[in-house]
Amino acid sequence: MQLVILSGKGGTGKTTIVSSFAYLADQSTIKVDCDVDASNLHLMFNGKDISSSQFSGSKKAIIDSDKCIGCGLCEKACRFDAIIPKDGYYEVMEHRCEGCNACRVVCPADAITLEEEDSGKKIMTVLEDESYLSRASLYPGADGSGKLVSEIRKASLELNKGKNNLIIIDGSPGVGCSVMASITGVEFGLLVTEPTQSGFEDFVRAYELAKHFRIKSYVAINKYDLNEEMADTIERYCDDNGIKVIGRIPYDVVVNKSNFESKPLVMYNDSIAGNEIKNMWNIIKNEMEV
Ligand code: SF4
Ligand code: SF4
Repeated sequence: MQLVILSGKGGTGKTTIVSSFAYLADQSTIKVDCDVDASNLHLMFNGKDISSSQFSGSKKAIIDSDKCIGCGLCEKACRFDAIIPKDGYYEVMEHRCEGCNACRVVCPADAITLEEEDSGKKIMTVLEDESYLSRASLYPGADGSGKLVSEIRKASLELNKGKNNLIIIDGSPGVGCSVMASITGVEFGLLVTEPTQSGFEDFVRAYELAKHFRIKSYVAINKYDLNEEMADTIERYCDDNGIKVIGRIPYDVVVNKSNFESKPLVMYNDSIAGNEIKNMWNIIKNEMEV
């Protein structure tokens, strides 16, 4: 059983909800942070990294100047203008290379190799309640976020082999390829939105994506009381499309405190938003029958 928490874009309060769900879930629940560009779920918990391995999201061409005969065929073959002449030979401008292999195919001197690029790290963390968090860190500007998301999700499924534990996935923001990698094969989705026009449009895009992947979707409207008219518009859209709204989270200054202190919001008993998230967790648990 897998539950993904999604938002059409970053900054909607998704991590506040995921970290609270992760706190409320029982110890057997496996967590996955698919926001590989800016992973932050682990910051809300005490934990210990038990493994870390390199990830390669792309390849780069390298020219061996000892073998190069300076024919220039590679420069002509490269559609990305990544190869330039230098001192009678040729060299690759790494930042332009897309690893397409065309230069290697045409090289008559076997002077070109493609080498794996070091793009980031896959990390397995054990949290203080002894549950597992599969996460990653993609280096700035590196390629392969979709592939990296697939790999950390695969690691969570391997942990769950032979068991039937719940997996909670903090989905990548947006609707790009890393989001698709976050949601393939998932049964349940919670879409987090905010009551603004752009929030509504982002939510509709995220919902269309979830529908395409046949994910049973639920909705939470964060800070609904900042624009109740727009919140009503979102609810009407959900009614018309048969999507259940399971949370109307009020604006709450305690959220800032929880972010500042890096603790899940539901740990603060005086938080009105936290209490709503507790209700949401109970509803979604019943819906998933876990
Ligand atoms: S691998 Fe492709 S992109 Fe990179 S240098 Fe060769 S032809 Fe250009
Ligand atoms: S195709 Fe090979 S031999 Fe020719 S310039 Fe490029 S690297 Fe050198």
